[in-house]
Amino acid sequence: RAKRAGRGHACFFDAEMDKAVRTRRQLESDLRQAILRKQLYLEYQPIFDVGSQNVSGYEALLRWAHPERGVIEPETFIPIAEESGSIAAIGEWVLEQACEEAARWQEPANVAVNLSPLQFMIPTLYDQIERILREAGLDPRRLELEITEAALMRERAAVIATLQRLHRLGVRVVMDDFGTGFSSLSNLRAFPFDKIKVDRSFTGALEHDPAARSIVRAIIGLGNSLNMPVVTEGVETELQRRIVVEEGCAQLQGMFFGKPDVGPSQYFMLDKAVGQA
Ligand code: C2E
Ligand code: MG
Ligand code: MG
Ligand code: MG
Repeated sequence: RAKRAGRGHACFFDAEMDKAVRTRRQLESDLRQAILRKQLYLEYQPIFDVGSQNVSGYEALLRWAHPERGVIEPETFIPIAEESGSIAAIGEWVLEQACEEAARWQEPANVAVNLSPLQFMIPTLYDQIERILREAGLDPRRLELEITEAALMRERAAVIATLQRLHRLGVRVVMDDFGTGFSSLSNLRAFPFDKIKVDRSFTGALEHDPAARSIVRAIIGLGNSLNMPVVTEGVETELQRRIVVEEGCAQLQGMFFGKPDVGPSQYFMLDKAVGQA
């Protein structure tokens, strides 16, 4: 009897596995068509500057409008793009789209773009970014590139050389999700990041976890003394905002200030207004 139940369980498990594998393969092939079929789009979340009390930039966040599955989150499909090789084309599309849109904004706000560590395996990444900025007519100083520590794991010297060239071009380089992963201090020493972003998991814990507050305080102090201003992401409440401002955080991002949406794109708003009329 135990044996029968065991086998039944194994069959159920196999069927589930099989379904997951098929879904995954389907998404992989759908994703290869997504750019051509114009299913990808960017949302923009404001980044608030404490010193000037103004929105100083927007982070571009990628979305996939899947024809059957609805809008899919980047945390679901970026790993698929990374494993199936489409991240190079998708990453290039994101850079082009973000730079073109930002160049049309009426306010000269910065635009922050997330880069996959795998994009650093593209030997022509620097030339690609330089070309995209030139073609979009966007001042390089308005582009911020958000990278995670994972980008510094492989081909470290080559990645740092690319970052240095981008930095010289005027592009701002931001260490994203700091506090998770390795949080290696030698990474902060090896390259002069323009900003450090504290991972949102700390922000969510600030109100009830004294350890989270101590860690955030330490990261902000470290960043300020290294001339790398700190951005806190995932700010959802007034109390969280007050805590990180008290600790000396330079910039803030999160639902408290605004969720990701169309951003300051005048063209899009015009389209919408025409659509409503
Ligand atoms: P991230 O770079 O850390 O982006 C911030 C994430 O926090 C976004 O999730 C944003 O929607 C979410 N968020 C904003 N405000 C709040 C808040 O108040 N509370 C909480 N809990 N979350 C908030 P999203 O858009 O789902 O993106 C998730 C991750 O996907 C991003 O994390 C980034 O690592 C990655 N990603 C997004 N767009 C791209 C892209 O174009 N290329 C690559 N390679 N990765 C991307
Ligand atoms: Mg999300
Ligand atoms: Mg980011
Ligand atoms: Mg982040």
